[in-house]
Amino acid sequence: MERHHALERLGSTRFDLLVIGGGITGAGVARDAALRGLKVALVEKLDFASGTSSRSSRLIHGGVRYLEYGQFGMVRESSRERKLLLELAPHLVRPLAFTWPVYRGDRLPRWKVGAGLWLYDMLAHFENVGRHSRLGAQGVLEAEPALAGTDLRGGARYWDAATDDVRLTVSNILGAIDVDATVLNHCEVRELLHGTGRVTGALVVDTLTGDERQVSADVVVNATGPWSDSLRGLDDGLQHAAVRGTKGVHLLLPHDRVENREAVTLLSPLDGRVMFVLPAGAFTLVGTTDTRTSMTPDRVRATTEDVDYLLRSVNARFPAAGLTPADVVSAWAGLRPLVAAGQEGGAGSEGRASREHAITWSDSQLLSVTGGKLTTYRAMAEEVVDLAVRRLHRRAAPSASGRRPLPGGEVRDVAGEIAQAAAVTGNPAVGEHLVHSHGARWRRVWDLTDLDRSLGELLDPELPYIAAEVVHAATRELACTPADVLIRRFPLAYETRDHGREVAPLVAQLMSPHVKRTAEALLAGYDDEVDRIFTVEQAEPDGNSPGDSEIAARVTG
Ligand SMILES: Cc1cc2nc3c(=O)[nH]c(=O)nc-3n(C[C@H](O)[C@H](O)[C@H](O)COP(=O)(O)OP(=O)(O)OC[C@H]3O[C@@H](n4cnc5c(N)ncnc54)[C@H](O)[C@@H]3O)c2cc1C
Repeated sequence: MERHHALERLGSTRFDLLVIGGGITGAGVARDAALRGLKVALVEKLDFASGTSSRSSRLIHGGVRYLEYGQFGMVRESSRERKLLLELAPHLVRPLAFTWPVYRGDRLPRWKVGAGLWLYDMLAHFENVGRHSRLGAQGVLEAEPALAGTDLRGGARYWDAATDDVRLTVSNILGAIDVDATVLNHCEVRELLHGTGRVTGALVVDTLTGDERQVSADVVVNATGPWSDSLRGLDDGLQHAAVRGTKGVHLLLPHDRVENREAVTLLSPLDGRVMFVLPAGAFTLVGTTDTRTSMTPDRVRATTEDVDYLLRSVNARFPAAGLTPADVVSAWAGLRPLVAAGQEGGAGSEGRASREHAITWSDSQLLSVTGGKLTTYRAMAEEVVDLAVRRLHRRAAPSASGRRPLPGGEVRDVAGEIAQAAAVTGNPAVGEHLVHSHGARWRRVWDLTDLDRSLGELLDPELPYIAAEVVHAATRELACTPADVLIRRFPLAYETRDHGREVAPLVAQLMSPHVKRTAEALLAGYDDEVDRIFTVEQAEPDGNSPGDSEIAARVTG
């Protein structure tokens, strides 16, 4: 649907559900509700996954950290969702082997790591992709030869899954649109509308044109993650303490410097926190920190201290890496919202604090959902829509999001599909990337090259992204700006030191006829968006640092 049609529909339809926020939570809620036959709208103020949902460790995991805190229910639920997502989106959620080396003096000795991973498998009913195995020091070094051998006591190998957080979000958005949801990015809620004591919709502004619409809905869902208290302020007029979660920073490093073979779980030798060293194509993803921050969700960034902490931790365990800040390809931060902020439902609330997330009704019936994980988004969405349906007093089909593959997820033999795509495109890296991003729908992208051969060309000679994906993103994935494409439809901006600045003019030209704006206008905000995400600050305004972490010893993600 063209953007202006979607905007018209927003203003002229009475929806069952209006979802505010296009991160994984909102996208999951919209798809689950639309699959049940509800009339659904979703608005996102910037772009899908532009908030926390593009800042995760990109893991679909049971969550080894919950074991330390005895949160076995959380591990069980996450493991169940991991299994489901491996089936529903095999192109996007892929098994990943982790090596966990144990060094002399580590906070968790070998026997505890082994016992914990046995419990981890048990809570997944031994149905994880593979069972853990204990390793001696030699076994650890065979699995990950670049790890330090000095003081190595042994370790273990276990399984979780890797994903692409942005594509998972976009995939849910596309899945919602497939079943007739009305979805708009760059469309911000500025006011909530109230009638007879309850919220009845929202005033939204198309931030690209300034057009406004009033959207009517029987149930309004606040799925704005770290922004959720701002939305609650629009609801009850009160000044809520802004969500001050903790900040998690990731770094992208050249893989040939770290030389990890698969994923590595480390206890940082600096403070004992769990961190991950993860494969990411030609790169290695390292994260994360966990520090208190006073930065707002709109401007949360990494600091030089965050970068230093992560590099020192990796260098200690991968001694040949010798990484310095000059080796960092990109660094970025995300906010983990505090669940407590969403739990005060007020009088009349039927909210329930559940595991890591909270779902609450406000006095005026705004349904807020905060916290949770990428991994459990689907279960959380199902729970939210169940509550909404009950409030709507109408019949709706039961949730189907646990049965229906995500768009492109119909692909059964991912390796076979990649081989086909490699043969068709003539470039194995392009074939692999297209299948991992689009699953069975990869041909929709490649077929654009039939009309214009030049669309088969690489945007950057070192990376597997082709011009056809720009056109596809603009015409079929609601990308409105070069930043939407280069930061959030595929990760070129993360993987280049100039964060896509050189290629952005070409991307703007390719998009221009499809989004009906000039290339100049499209380029205007690119630098700002890159600065917002990738600039590394000298220091936190209030001087917090990883050493200040209240929760040092917590495992991330
Ligand atoms: C560092 C870090 C690592 C993590 N790693 C993992 C991991 O590996 N695995 C895992 O399972 N989980 C992980 N998580 C958790 C996971 O990323 C989050 O739970 C999830 O992304 C939250 O999604 P969300 O949709 O609730 O919030 P968000 O993604 O932040 O989405 C909220 C959206 O609301 C929009 N919005 C705000 N105000 C308005 C408005 N007025 N109008 C319209 N839209 C608005 C924002 O622009 C934003 O896009 C991690 C989190 C962090 C911070």
